[in-house]
Amino acid sequence: MKAEIIAVGSELLTPHRQDTNSLFLTEQLNKLGIEVVRKTVVGDQREQIRDAFKEALSRVGLVISIGGLGPTEDDLTRETVAELLGRKLQLSNAILRGIQERFRRFGREMPEVNKRQAMVPDGAEPLDNPRGTAPGLWIEHQSQIVVLLPGPPGELKPMFTTRVEPRLAGYAAGRRLYKRELRVAGMAESDVEQRIAPIYTQFTEAETTLLASPGEIQVHLRAWSEDVAAAEKLLNEMTERIRMALGEAVFTTEGESLEEVVARELTLNNSTIAVAESCTGGLLAERLTSIAGSSSYFLGGVVCYANNLKTAWVDVPAEIIEAKGAVSAEVALALAEGIRRRSGALLGLGVTGIAGPAGGSAEKPVGTVHIALATGDGGKERGFHFPGDRERIRWQASQIALDMVRRHFLYSTQTKAPAKG
Ligand code: ATP
Ligand code: MG
Repeated sequence: MKAEIIAVGSELLTPHRQDTNSLFLTEQLNKLGIEVVRKTVVGDQREQIRDAFKEALSRVGLVISIGGLGPTEDDLTRETVAELLGRKLQLSNAILRGIQERFRRFGREMPEVNKRQAMVPDGAEPLDNPRGTAPGLWIEHQSQIVVLLPGPPGELKPMFTTRVEPRLAGYAAGRRLYKRELRVAGMAESDVEQRIAPIYTQFTEAETTLLASPGEIQVHLRAWSEDVAAAEKLLNEMTERIRMALGEAVFTTEGESLEEVVARELTLNNSTIAVAESCTGGLLAERLTSIAGSSSYFLGGVVCYANNLKTAWVDVPAEIIEAKGAVSAEVALALAEGIRRRSGALLGLGVTGIAGPAGGSAEKPVGTVHIALATGDGGKERGFHFPGDRERIRWQASQIALDMVRRHFLYSTQTKAPAKG
């Protein structure tokens, strides 16, 4: 079964409000095996709403709308849909009493306008709304289903779960959506695409999407199928082949964040870490401590922006800063070594760079970042010119730093602490 969602509300066409309800609905519908093939957002105008429903009903068997069931002038969904489907609206005394009762409970008389919410199109089934006044509506029209839901998420969600989902479950037997996700760090989107396109284009039964964010590419695989075993087999094979093609750049197939993976590696290896940050301003420490249990591996960090504090706190030699500049490979390494030595951690991370927008030069433009990892077995340093604005540059720097820690554990067992006990 295929579905379309229509979000009704002029506020959803402004920069201030987003249609988030359809994200919830899509997820729930997919779980039922119903594929959402189109979403429409329309303002509170009769013709717009009418056209949206008319078009959707010419394409799919299930149309779900959001919003416009309230008592005010601009709430037009109920009336417009009734008219489109050629059904008269009748006052439901039961619903009216429910609404009056609800107002009484809050110590008020029901305003006359709320009477509209008790109007039900002929043959429609009201879906009661324990969280608000407007009931939803379930309308079966020939072989199609139209569901009208209220806009406030706090009303829509429980109504969908308790009233709509059980009804839809019967219609959608069999077909399900199966998913896999690979996350990749330290590779550009175009490189990922180039390596995996020859693979995923062979699997026409599945849909492959690349989602790129700073410092991370996600590869999403989706397949609709009635056959669990076949779908699992297909997706497992795709995942495995893509993982082989991308090698160690894949940091998870389980949907974990990079900091979660790094936290697991640090814990499993009985390792500890400390950070000395300049341009990331504490972002690395923040990400490393965002995971529960981080005290077992994270010893601490310093944010040393000023040159003299790089020297005072983590012993970066003033001569190196003088000779090479604060943003240099040498200073990144000295930060990493210094914090490692000062903290007693097994690993030290150092980051220094120019996040901008000011402070760049021809030789060291905005986005120049040096990141170093000290392991007690020498240090590793990498230099970058990251694109983007300040926030993006800082995020990418933290992403690479975490990824250097992750990759360190792929090769090395040397920083493992002696087993306890
Ligand atoms: P009400 O009785 O509150 O008027 P309604 O069914 O008429 O309910 P709307 O007036 O369209 O719904 O929307 C009410 C509020 O619900 C909006 O101000 C908005 O905050 C939220 N809302 C509406 N549609 C959506 C949506 N698609 N996604 C997220 N929030 C929404
Ligand atoms: Mg409204």
